[in-house]
Amino acid sequence: MSVSQIRVRAPARRLCLSSFVLAGITGLIVWAALADLLQQGRLQTALSAGWAELAAPLLVGLVVATGICERIWPAERRPVLARGHLQDACYLALHAIVVIPLMTLLSVGAASLIASHARWIEVRSTAHWSGWLLVPLTIVAMDGANWLAHYADHRLDPLWRFHALHHSQEELSVLTSFRAHPLMHTTGFILATIPVVALMPTRAIAPVLITAYVCVGTLQHANLRWTFGPVGRVIVSPAYHRLHHATDNQVVNLGVVLTIWDVLAGYARFPGRRGAVGRTGLDGRPVPVEQDGAARPALLLLADQLIEPFQPRG
Ligand SMILES: [Zn+2]
Ligand SMILES: [Zn+2]
Repeated sequence: MSVSQIRVRAPARRLCLSSFVLAGITGLIVWAALADLLQQGRLQTALSAGWAELAAPLLVGLVVATGICERIWPAERRPVLARGHLQDACYLALHAIVVIPLMTLLSVGAASLIASHARWIEVRSTAHWSGWLLVPLTIVAMDGANWLAHYADHRLDPLWRFHALHHSQEELSVLTSFRAHPLMHTTGFILATIPVVALMPTRAIAPVLITAYVCVGTLQHANLRWTFGPVGRVIVSPAYHRLHHATDNQVVNLGVVLTIWDVLAGYARFPGRRGAVGRTGLDGRPVPVEQDGAARPALLLLADQLIEPFQPRG
């Protein structure tokens, strides 16, 4: 048999099945939400309410003000049109067009599925509690659920495949808050909906409180050295969250808004006031990044980054 007759079978490039499963689960939750909202004729109302919460003028103002502060007191000085900023601006656009409606439908869908299949989790006695006690308690529980989802993102490979994109940013700025794969939000919304349905089955959290919560979560990526002083022992500051984005040690400082969960789990590392600004990003660049000299134009790279979790790795 000649060499040319030997047919070597190339190893099949298998796609990442778990990523398709997560996409399927997300699709089912969104479908449940759409079916529910269309039946009640409330689709437009729900989408508008989601938009009002997640793209509120307060949040837009915070992003602009933080961007100005980053120019005046940057943790790392870099051009305003740095590639990292431009790429994350594309994610901001994706967030506004795709992710906000998706988040709205995920939260409606998760609440509807939990209400129809796990009604037993509702704590009816809270109906008599004062809002001054119940609302803060629910928000703290929601933050705990978000911490758990973030912990799972780092501990479970199928979830890390989607979370890695967020960590791939080597030029952190306030816009990095929006650098997330749309499918990264599914577990967080399912888990965060549980305490809301359990503790407030018949009441809603005021939209302004959700917006305030999102604002604090957005500020943490700012290219600033701010530690928030004593408040930073409780609320996640930009300096605290930057340690979570370090290239070498991401399983610290997983908190979304409150640091208490990290403290309780032994994962809190509080930044020093004068500490050096460490590098961020992922060693070895497992996700294609804009800082790579051979990177494609922003929108093509965005597509590469979004399909990356579905591809085989390593
Ligand atoms: Zn993370
Ligand atoms: Zn982050």
